[in-house]
Amino acid sequence: MTTTHETLRPPRRDERNWADSFSYRATRVVQPTTVDELSELVAGAPRIRALGTRHSFSDVADGPGLLVSTTALPADPVISDDGHGVTVGAGTNYAVVAQHLDRHGLALLNMGSLPHISVGGAIATGTHGSGLGLGSLSSAVSALEIVGPDGSLRTVRRGQPGFDGSVVALGALGVVVRVTLDVQPGFRMRQDTYVDLPWSSVDDHLVDVMGAGYSVSFFHEFDHRIREVLVKSRVPEGLADVSMPRDLWGARPAPVDEHAEVTGTKSTPMDGSVGSWADRLPHFRIDATPSVGSELQSEHFVALEDGAAALRAVRRVGDELRPHLHTCETRTVAGDPLWLSPTPQDSLGIAFTWKKHPAEVAALIPRVEEALAPFTPRPHWGKLSALPHAAIVAAYPRLADFADLVREIDPEGKFGGPAVERLLA
Ligand SMILES: Cc1cc2nc3c(=O)[nH]c(=O)nc-3n(C[C@H](O)[C@H](O)[C@H](O)COP(=O)(O)OP(=O)(O)OC[C@H]3O[C@@H](n4cnc5c(N)ncnc54)[C@H](O)[C@@H]3O)c2cc1C
Repeated sequence: MTTTHETLRPPRRDERNWADSFSYRATRVVQPTTVDELSELVAGAPRIRALGTRHSFSDVADGPGLLVSTTALPADPVISDDGHGVTVGAGTNYAVVAQHLDRHGLALLNMGSLPHISVGGAIATGTHGSGLGLGSLSSAVSALEIVGPDGSLRTVRRGQPGFDGSVVALGALGVVVRVTLDVQPGFRMRQDTYVDLPWSSVDDHLVDVMGAGYSVSFFHEFDHRIREVLVKSRVPEGLADVSMPRDLWGARPAPVDEHAEVTGTKSTPMDGSVGSWADRLPHFRIDATPSVGSELQSEHFVALEDGAAALRAVRRVGDELRPHLHTCETRTVAGDPLWLSPTPQDSLGIAFTWKKHPAEVAALIPRVEEALAPFTPRPHWGKLSALPHAAIVAAYPRLADFADLVREIDPEGKFGGPAVERLLA
C-alpha cells in the first residue's frame, strides 16, 4: 500500500516518525489531554488523523491536516468485573498495560517485540507478536470507543455489525480513545535462545519448530543457517520451571557468553531465567531503545502452509539483501476475521530490519516482494512496501466492505490521509 519512494523522501518538516525516516506532511501535531478536548478538536478540524507513538515506517499515520496524538490521554486502566478484559486509553503503551495487569495477577495474550508502542496504533495496523494459536494484538480487542467526525463518541463491540472492519482501520474511522483488550490469568515464563538451526529443519518441520514454546521466533540473515531461535515458554502453575531440550530440531542452546550478547542491556532476559510474563513476552525492555535504533523495516505475511516455500524463495535472493540487512525475524500469527487484517489465516510473518540505507532498501523491497509473489504476500500496514495497489486489492476480499464503512461513518473523508486514500482509490 505504501510506496517506498513516498515514505523515504527527504525530511521537510520537523515532525518525524520514531525511526527518523519519515517526515509527516501534516500541518500540525496536537496533543489533547482529555477526551473532551480531543472531541472538540475533531469536531472543529476539516482534516484530522490519529497519531500513536510514531513507530510506523510507512506513511500510514500521515494526513494533510492536523495529526492528533493520543499519547497524553489518561491511561486509566480498568479491569472488567469478570477479570476477562482491561480497558485503557488508546495512547497508552503496552508496558503500562502489562505492568498494571501483572500487579493484578493478569496477563495480555501476547505482545509485539517492543512494549513502547501505543495500543491504539498497534491495533490499527494489525501489529503482532509470535505464537501458534496466538492472534495479532488487534485480535485481542473486544471493544473500541471512537470519536467520530462530529466529535461524538461511539462504542463498537465484538459481534456488532462493523466491528470486524473497525479494529485494523488505519485511523480511517475516527480517533480511538479507549480500547478493551482480552486478558488471561498471569503466568511465569522463561526465554531461551538457541543457535545454528539448520534450514532443513525449517524446510521439513516449520510448524514443529514454531510450536516449541508459547511464542517462538527465529532470526537470520538468509545465509547458510538460522543464527538464533528465541523460545518463550510458559511455566505451568505449580511448577518451579520447565525443562528445555538440549537439541531443538538441530539447534543448540546458546553458549552462556552468547546470552550476554543476545540479552544485552536492551533485551528482556533471554537466559532461561524464570520470571513474570510481562518482562519476557516482549523482546525489548521498556527502559531501553528498542531494536537497532537506526533502521527501516518491512514485513510480509504468507499463509503458514506456504511459509517454508516462501522462505526458500527469499533465500534465493539472500546474497543481494544481506549487505543492507540487520536481520530478518520470522514469526507466526493465528488468523482472525478482521477485514483489513494482514493475517486472515494462520500466517508466517517475514520481517526485515534493514540498515538505514533508504535508496538501497527501496530497491530491495520489490526484490523481496517478487520472490514472495507466488504466495500472495500481505504487507504490514505500518512498514514499508512497494506492492502495487492491484496486489493489495486482490489480497483483501473485504476491502469493499471497509470502503462502505468509511463512507458511512466519514462521508467527507475527514480522517483520510495518503495511505487510506491510496487504499480506497
Ligand atoms: C522498533 C520497532 C519494532 C516493531 N516491532 C513490531 C512487532 O514486533 N510486530 C509488529 O507487528 N509491528 C512492529 N512494529 C511496527 C509497529 O508496531 C506498528 O507500526 C504500529 O502501528 C505502531 O504503533 P504506533 O502507536 O507507533 O502508531 P503510529 O505509527 O503512530 O500510527 C499507526 C497507525 O495507527 C493509527 N492510529 C494510531 N493511534 C490511533 C488511535 N488512537 N485511533 C485510531 N487510529 C490510530 C494511525 O492513524 C496510523 O494509521 C515495530 C516498529 C518499530 C519501530
